[in-house]
Amino acid sequence: MDIFFTNTLTRKKEVFKPIDEKEVRIYSCGPTVYKDATIGNMRTSIFQDVLRRVLRYNGYKIKHVMNITDVGHLVSDGDEGEDKMIKSAREEHKSPAEIADYYTKLFFEDLKNLNIETPEIVCKATDHIPDMLKYVETLMEKGYAYETSTAIYFDISKLDKYPVLSNLNLEEQKAGARVEVDPEKKSPYDFALWIKAPENHLMKWDSPWGPSYPGWHIECSAMGQKYLGEQFDIHTGGIDLIPTHHENEIAQSKGYCGKVPARYWLHGEYLLINGGKMSKSLGNVYLLRDIINRGYSPLAYRLFSYSSHYRNKLNFTWEGIEASQKSLERLKQGYQAHLNGKDEVEDEKVNEYEERFHKAINDDLNMPLAMGVVWEVIRNDKKSPKLAKLLLKFDSVLGLKIDEKEEIKQEIPKEILELIEERKKAREDKNWEESDRIRDLIKEKGYEIKDTKEGTEVRFLGTED
Ligand code: AMP
Ligand code: ZN
Repeated sequence: MDIFFTNTLTRKKEVFKPIDEKEVRIYSCGPTVYKDATIGNMRTSIFQDVLRRVLRYNGYKIKHVMNITDVGHLVSDGDEGEDKMIKSAREEHKSPAEIADYYTKLFFEDLKNLNIETPEIVCKATDHIPDMLKYVETLMEKGYAYETSTAIYFDISKLDKYPVLSNLNLEEQKAGARVEVDPEKKSPYDFALWIKAPENHLMKWDSPWGPSYPGWHIECSAMGQKYLGEQFDIHTGGIDLIPTHHENEIAQSKGYCGKVPARYWLHGEYLLINGGKMSKSLGNVYLLRDIINRGYSPLAYRLFSYSSHYRNKLNFTWEGIEASQKSLERLKQGYQAHLNGKDEVEDEKVNEYEERFHKAINDDLNMPLAMGVVWEVIRNDKKSPKLAKLLLKFDSVLGLKIDEKEEIKQEIPKEILELIEERKKAREDKNWEESDRIRDLIKEKGYEIKDTKEGTEVRFLGTED
């Protein structure tokens, strides 16, 4: 059965034809490991995991590369501002490497909790400095880059066309109020490939241009080329990456070898919170841990993400998660009912369900439509192990572990555990007033405690949205 993808590069829904007929090569832009990954980041990770699973459902082998950005991503996403890693290291009084290790570990914990498969190759930017340097040197030799007193820039005027992926109108934008930090840039859209490091810069490497560090875009071009070749099948990321990061990756690759690095570009839309943007200042940045700490299964979030097509916005609400948790439980019960059923179900019916599910997932990963078929199977009056087997097959794409018993790991935040310890000390000192004060404080933070013979029990009450 044909697979269709909406390709950002052509702005069309197209039949997918891989370069190699057996193995699909994919590159996904991974996290910048300077802070906790949000449930928005995780929405993009789930979409990428579904893509892998759908390709495998169709019989393909997969070679999937995901990078870990631990250098070069500036706070502006462009050429302005501080490196996100260094900013975070300064704020948390740690080294950039410590920050990277810490947040990389948390990122993979989230992936595991969401039953997201680890890509075949996970590569860290700082492990690939020589590859990036070689790439930039080649661009220099071929005349696609130039040096200023602060950086090595890519010269977009050398390309036949820029932009190719986004709808940027360069003339209109140029007339706008873009403040340029480096007046030596030939065009405001030239971008940094390599940046000369100021005196006390924390991350820098020797290069023909002195101590310096890579730009963000070059890492994906260099690592993509290294592990997947000059041209591979699919490149993915969130929609925010289209106008700068992915546009510039394409520019670099065209300069390096004359090719657009991937044939299909798939972009996931944003997760909104209560209809708006997730932002620190609005206090509505949610992590997967927040969902788990409220007593929900992380897989309820995975199921929740199927309520919208990956190319549409999805609005997160706690009511939505509550409903998804119940749906997940009903899915598991429904699976068990079929497993233990004794009814006869015709093969034709089973095949019809399978075909409709397959068609839905192959239609640009239409998970809301696919879930419709899943629910029809669950609700089928006749209960049969044949349908349980079919549901398990579907679950190879859904990744919801429908055959496993629910296990919710509720983590108590460190802050609450410390308060409980403090309260214990107050009680040992018979300081009842202090003990009550701490109990109230814990309650304000959304947790209830109960003293039992075995110790203190903690229960999450929930907080206001
Ligand atoms: P960042 O940590 O901001 O560099 O983002 C890492 C990845 O997550 C990128 O591919 C973003 O497009 C994606 N992402 C960030 N915020 C959201 C969101 N609210 N919804 C969906 N994807 C997001
Ligand atoms: Zn990238």
